[in-house]
Amino acid sequence: METAEIRRRFLDHFEQNGHTVVPSASLISPDPSLLFTVAGMVPFIPYLTGQQAAPWPRATSVQKCIRTGDIDEVGKTTRHGTFFQMNGNFSFGDYFKEGAITHAWDLITKSRSDGGYGFPEDKIWVTVYHDDDEAAELWKKVAGLPDERIQRRGLLDNYWHTGQPGPGGPCSEIYVDRGPEHGPDGGPVVDEDRFLEIWNLVFMQEQITDVKAKDDFVVVGDLPSKNIDTGMGLERVAYLLQGVDNMYEIDQVRPTLQRAADLSGKRYGANHDDDVRMRVVADHVRSSLMLIGDGVTPSNEGRGYVLRRLLRRSVRAMRLLGVDTTTMPELLPVAKDCMKAAYPELESDFARISSVAYAEEEAFRRTLQTGTQIFDLAADEAKRAGEFALPGDTAFKLHDTYGFPIDLTLEMAAEQGLKVDEAHFRRLMTEQRERAKADAKAKKTGRADLSAYRQLRDAGPTPFTGYEELETESRVR
Ligand code: ATP
Ligand code: MG
Ligand code: MG
Ligand code: MG
Repeated sequence: METAEIRRRFLDHFEQNGHTVVPSASLISPDPSLLFTVAGMVPFIPYLTGQQAAPWPRATSVQKCIRTGDIDEVGKTTRHGTFFQMNGNFSFGDYFKEGAITHAWDLITKSRSDGGYGFPEDKIWVTVYHDDDEAAELWKKVAGLPDERIQRRGLLDNYWHTGQPGPGGPCSEIYVDRGPEHGPDGGPVVDEDRFLEIWNLVFMQEQITDVKAKDDFVVVGDLPSKNIDTGMGLERVAYLLQGVDNMYEIDQVRPTLQRAADLSGKRYGANHDDDVRMRVVADHVRSSLMLIGDGVTPSNEGRGYVLRRLLRRSVRAMRLLGVDTTTMPELLPVAKDCMKAAYPELESDFARISSVAYAEEEAFRRTLQTGTQIFDLAADEAKRAGEFALPGDTAFKLHDTYGFPIDLTLEMAAEQGLKVDEAHFRRLMTEQRERAKADAKAKKTGRADLSAYRQLRDAGPTPFTGYEELETESRVR
C-alpha cells in the first residue's frame, strides 16, 4: 500500500468518525518554546492545555515532524527518521480512552478491502501505564486482547507530561510483531525492533505538579476537560504494509537511497556500513528538502544549524561512499519527486529550495577536503601521543575556518575512537562571540570597548549554550 494511500485512509477513517481534517502546520514550530514541530499535537497545544477553546471537538491531521534527537539513530535502527509524518486524531473534551482505543483498533484491524490497514489481530501488542487498569480493561473489552499482550510500563515510556506543572496523563502504545526473524519473543518490553511501535495514544486526564527525576510527581486533580492526543508514524505503517525492512525503503524514500547507491556504484545490501550511509543520505536529503521548503536556511545556530548539519552530514556520507562530485543536484530532485504529491509546494518552490541546498553543498565542498586533511593529521597526532581526545582548538579551527559543525567533528572523532576537548572548544567559541560583540560595539562607538574583555576575564569560563536549545523537544514527548 502506497504511503499516500495509508495517509488517505487515516484521514478518511477519522473524518467519517466526525473529525475535522486540519492541514499540517509548518516544521517551524508554532509553539515558541520548541525549535521544531516534533509531534502532531504541537499545533494544538493551546487547546490541549486549555489556554484556548478548541474550534472543533475532534480533529485529525498528518503533521510534518522533525526530531533532531533521533539523528544518531538514523540508518542504524529501522524506524527513526529525522523527518517523518505523524498521523493523529485529537479529542478536545469529547471522547476519551474508550473512543481512542476503539477508533485505533478499528483502523488497524479493518480489512484492506474495507478501507483499513488489515494487520492480523494476533500480531498486535500494546503497552499501558503501570497503574492504568482502565486502559488495560478497555483493550480486553474493545479488542479482546489477551493479558500477555498488554504490557505495563512506567513513567519514562508511558506517561505524558511537559515537565512543568500542568496537564499530564498515561499513554498506551500499539506495537506490531514483525516476526521471530527480527528478534526475541517477549513483546515490546523486550525488543522494540521486532515489536515495532506504530501508534501512541495519550490520555490527558489530570493536573500534575512538576515532574522531577523518575516517578516523582503528584496528581493534583482531574483536568476539567479530558483530551486525547494520538500519534501514528506514517512511515512505520508504510514499511510494514509495503513489506520492506525499514523506513528508508518505503516508496517516499527508497528512490533517493537508490540514487545514492547508483552514484557511488555500490549495491545497497552488500555492506552494512555503506547501507547505513545510503540510508543517512536518503533521510537527510529528504529532511533538508522539507526544512528549506518551510523556510529554514543554513546558519550556525538554531534551526539553521540543524539544516546545515543535515546537509553537510549527507555530503560527507556520500564522500565516504566514494562520491567526490557534487551530489545535491542528483539527489534533491529525486527526493522532491517522492514528496511532491503530498506537498505540491515543493514543486512550485523548487528553484528556491534547490538553490539553497546547492549553495550549501558548494560552500562545504570548498573546505571539506582541506578540513578533512587537518582532521586526519590531528587525529593521527592525538593517537600517536596516546591522547584520548582531539584538541579543542582543532575542533574550533574546523568549525570556524572549514565549516565543520561541531557534531560532525564529534562524529568523525568517535569513528577514530577519540573524544573531543569540548570544554576548550566551547571556551574558544564564547571568546569569539564576545570578540564579535565587542567589535560590533566598537564599530558603533568608533572605539574599542575593552569592558567586554574585562568582564570575560573576570567571569571565567562561560558555558557554550549554542546547541542546547536543540534538546527542547523532550519537553513535549
Ligand atoms: P520510539 O520509541 O520508536 O523512539 P517514540 O515513543 O519516541 O518512538 P512517540 O513520541 O510516541 O514516538 O511518537 C508517536 C509515533 O510517531 C510513534 O509511535 C512512531 O510511530 C512515530 N515516530 C516517532 N519518532 C519517529 C521517528 N524518528 N521516525 C519515524 N517515526 C517516528
Ligand atoms: Mg523516540
Ligand atoms: Mg517509544
Ligand atoms: Mg511512543
